[in-house]
Amino acid sequence: MAGTASSSLRVWTVASTTAVVASSTSSACTRASLQLSPRIVLPCSRRAVSLALGFKPCLKSSAGVVRWLGVRAQGLAATEPLVSEPVKLVDAPVSIVTGSSRGIGKAIALALGGAGGKVLVNYARSAKEAEEVAQQIEDLGGSALVCGGDMSKEADVEALFKAALDKWGTVDILVNNAGITKDTLLMRMKKQQWQDVIDLNLTGVFLCTQAATKVMMKKRKGRIVNISSVVGVTGNIGQANYAAAKAGVIGLTKSVAREYASRNITVNAIAPGFITSDMTAKLNEETEQAILKTIPLGRYGLPKEVAGLVKFLALDPAAAYITGQTFNIDGGMVM
Ligand code: NAP
Repeated sequence: MAGTASSSLRVWTVASTTAVVASSTSSACTRASLQLSPRIVLPCSRRAVSLALGFKPCLKSSAGVVRWLGVRAQGLAATEPLVSEPVKLVDAPVSIVTGSSRGIGKAIALALGGAGGKVLVNYARSAKEAEEVAQQIEDLGGSALVCGGDMSKEADVEALFKAALDKWGTVDILVNNAGITKDTLLMRMKKQQWQDVIDLNLTGVFLCTQAATKVMMKKRKGRIVNISSVVGVTGNIGQANYAAAKAGVIGLTKSVAREYASRNITVNAIAPGFITSDMTAKLNEETEQAILKTIPLGRYGLPKEVAGLVKFLALDPAAAYITGQTFNIDGGMVM
């Protein structure tokens, strides 16, 4: 994971290479601050690094600049500054998290904002809750922009991306989280119940992904995380609409991952099992007990546990080589 809960996230660019450096203090790049970072970019000579680490860096440098070092900074002795030339501190990553006024989306927005990022908090109806999420992000040291909008509607999606671009000039991370359920057995399901769920849970992901990739492909950089569901993998009684949409998200994820890999855009899906939120609070006691019996870990997951996985896929340098995957986070329900 990038950094620690108490550290803020900083992105440094050196000789056209970008690395994420966690620092709880200032923008000064000192050995002490680098001790928090799992991966670092050091603009100093290979020999100096070899001596400090006690072995030769395995990556070749160009023009005396050591690029990615997959080493733990704890291997470096402390005190004198490592930076021998100025480095440029680029802006913190800009994230859009759809449906982040409540539940899992809120936890994701707080995780990305808490890492020092700029986060667009989207809601459909819960304006007050969205404002509170934004305030919490600011309190954690991030920046936030609140933007209402129905993610199943093309015009609202366009307006949302315009708001992020007007304020921050770019979009680095998209988390397609907004989702609804309208459960009933197939034999009773009205066309509208089918359509509403497909429109937000699948078409909304398509619309936001298309808008995000337009920005990301020009930068040749971006990360997209789609919140699917284990139900999209297994199917579920009473959720034909929801399961179809969530399975569709997995197919969409794989296709977009293939289409945009050459542009350095990763696209992954997360398939949560039962997570404590307003969505699962609708379930009655009997259903809940039946569900718990199917979860080897014997409990519902927490929104912050899903958020931790999103944060890894969205921010961690190690996740740069992961694309087109679906990660179950379900207490062992599906294995
Ligand atoms: P939740 O507590 O019901 O929250 C849903 C969020 O989506 C809210 O912020 C809501 O905003 C927003 N939203 C609803 N309709 C929207 C629309 N048309 N446009 C934009 N935003 C909209 O749900 P959750 O449990 O956190 O679920 C989040 C995601 O995880 C969903 O995609 C869901 O399918 C998926 N998931 C959840 C579970 C689970 O067990 N909870 C399991 C698997 C997958 P407002 O408050 O403004 O309505």
